Amino acid sequence: MKSLGEHVRELIALEGPITVERYMDLCLRHYYATRDPLGVEGDFTTSPEISQMFGELIGLWMLEVWNAMGRPDPVHLVELGPGRGTLMADLLRATKLLPDFASAAQVHLVETSPALRQKQQDTLASTGLPVHWHERLDDVPEGPMLLVANEFFDALPLRQFIATERGWCERLVGIENENLIFGLRAEAAQALGQPLKIGDVLEWPAMSVDIMQHLARRIARDTGAVLIIDYGYWGPAFGDTLQALKAHAYVDPLELPGEADLTTHVDFHHLAKTASAHDLQVHGPGTQGDFLTALGIEARASSLKKRATPAQSAEIDTALTRLTERGEIGMGKLFKVLAVTHKSLEAVPGLPPLSSS
Ligand code: SAH
Repeated sequence: MKSLGEHVRELIALEGPITVERYMDLCLRHYYATRDPLGVEGDFTTSPEISQMFGELIGLWMLEVWNAMGRPDPVHLVELGPGRGTLMADLLRATKLLPDFASAAQVHLVETSPALRQKQQDTLASTGLPVHWHERLDDVPEGPMLLVANEFFDALPLRQFIATERGWCERLVGIENENLIFGLRAEAAQALGQPLKIGDVLEWPAMSVDIMQHLARRIARDTGAVLIIDYGYWGPAFGDTLQALKAHAYVDPLELPGEADLTTHVDFHHLAKTASAHDLQVHGPGTQGDFLTALGIEARASSLKKRATPAQSAEIDTALTRLTERGEIGMGKLFKVLAVTHKSLEAVPGLPPLSSS
């Protein structure tokens, strides 16, 4: 069978250079469809895989928000890109505290990868709850919704534009001597405004914005809340954030098409601005460290440690530090949390009101 790299080269030979967005889309579809990329054996690790505390606290967040929404029954409990299903399993265990929620919640997972759907099915089998899988968010039925997306938006393709003397030009992927290389599309993209400085890179996350718009329209109409956690920044900012990870190490994004994880940093300002246009409440962004601390991660760690062996206690402490660490490269600082809710929900646990900066 042809490798994805061969397929991409053939496509470019036939049709000419492709956009970064198309390249990412081809690579990511292949990558997620053909493996479980998570954990020590895989390419990267995520917060729910580090500790059960992450999903449990998000479960408590959901309970409080559901209460504040007036306890709609049924309520769609939705996750975008659920990976191994670990977050949802931990979340559901925590929400058993409120049996009314457990009976009102209908679980919907939006997942494109057959390999990960299988994993999610295995992980969630023990909950005994019916789980509905969807290829696309549009297929989730109408109605009040509570949605979580952890490390989902960073896995979506985006376009990149580079400031040149001719104005903004789109970054493309082409071939030179059988190797994939980056190039530029000759026509300048005028609509993006004046570039400040030659060499600036502007990222345009069209797919993320489409998804955010869809979520915003739904919540404005049906009520609900969306919780987004991801590696990201408060834009606008100029920079190339495209990265490739293989076996926990950075590689060239063009080196292993479809075999390495491709990610970009999420511009939370762009997402918040998209939601704000729909007369909704935007909360945050806050840092993951502040969010988990406000939700009581330290108390949760202490209570888990009461029933733990010394080795397990040490693991709980390590996980607590990893999830909340606010140093320059700590997940507690680099990961941001943003919530978007119906306008009637003026406050949500763990997040400040919309940052106006
Ligand atoms: N949320 C999980 C996994 C993050 S990895 C965790 O925190 O551990 C990204 C997830 O998004 C994977 O499950 C991947 O298959 C899924 N995914 C990527 N692109 C998608 C798309 N366009 N639609 C739905 N799911 C997608």
